[in-house]
Amino acid sequence: MALTNEQFDELMREYEETRNINRRLTEEKINIIEKKLPSLKAFDNRIATLSVQQAKSLMDGKTQQAEDIADEIAMMRVRRRSELESIGYHEEDLEPVYTCVDCQDTGFINRLTGHKEKCHCLKKRELEILYDQSRIKALLKKENFSKLSYEYCTGEDLTRLQSAVRICKEFVDDFGKNYRNLVFCGTVGTGKSFLACCIAHELLENCHSVLYMSAPQLFDTMAQYQFGNDREGKAEFSRELYDCELLIIDDLGTELTNSFVASSLFTIVSERHNHNHPTIITTNLSLQDIRDRYSDRTLSRVTGNYDFILLSGPDVRQLL
Ligand SMILES: [Zn+2]
Repeated sequence: MALTNEQFDELMREYEETRNINRRLTEEKINIIEKKLPSLKAFDNRIATLSVQQAKSLMDGKTQQAEDIADEIAMMRVRRRSELESIGYHEEDLEPVYTCVDCQDTGFINRLTGHKEKCHCLKKRELEILYDQSRIKALLKKENFSKLSYEYCTGEDLTRLQSAVRICKEFVDDFGKNYRNLVFCGTVGTGKSFLACCIAHELLENCHSVLYMSAPQLFDTMAQYQFGNDREGKAEFSRELYDCELLIIDDLGTELTNSFVASSLFTIVSERHNHNHPTIITTNLSLQDIRDRYSDRTLSRVTGNYDFILLSGPDVRQLL
């Protein structure tokens, strides 16, 4: 499944609008600072003129002259910095505003090889449009760390929940730095999906691409592509499934498990692990159930590469 040309054009207009808004914000910010520090413009003009002179001296082979100019530029920069600080600002305050610093709100990153690559923020928006994650968005509004409550937990259940929350926060903080996979297991209503949602919420807020699918939705979509004629769509969906920054498979075991589902799960888990792309699974299944339903090799991939987080307690949904 790929974006239509219209959807892609619309997305590019969205990026243009973001750049316009941020350009205005940058101008407003600089105007305020320039009003407080009228000499700022003179500094910038002087530094620009000196830089041109320095380049010219270098081209003419006048090394000493170029060095003298470099010293003057350095001195001007120090004076500029200290004058800025005297009115309570830093040089960073003059930097352009970007919603995504990595691509500077263009949606693409230029690699050294000259290759242009989609930025994670663009991949995130594409996923949102393609898989209509609006349902998830509504869910994430209700299910995030700010809505976390320990009210219905006591004793060992509470200790487990607290430890799980700590692991979730570590997962978010280390995301992109440490490769890690999680399985939330436990009975119904103990907060497995809630915690996976909390992680999704935090990462989406930070412009990461997260694909969140319930197990039935995931395997149904895979089956449609596997047994349908849409080759391009199949390739695109596979790419998103294997390449998105985080895949969350919610409620594994609630799908109708068959040999196609079992081998698909093995492929997902293996492909993502081979590329160090993190995955989170939530499930009511025990290890024995996972082996029986999916296979020994899937179980060993999961037990070998995932951290298991066990949650326990009463079904919170029954208590509300
Ligand atoms: Zn970006």
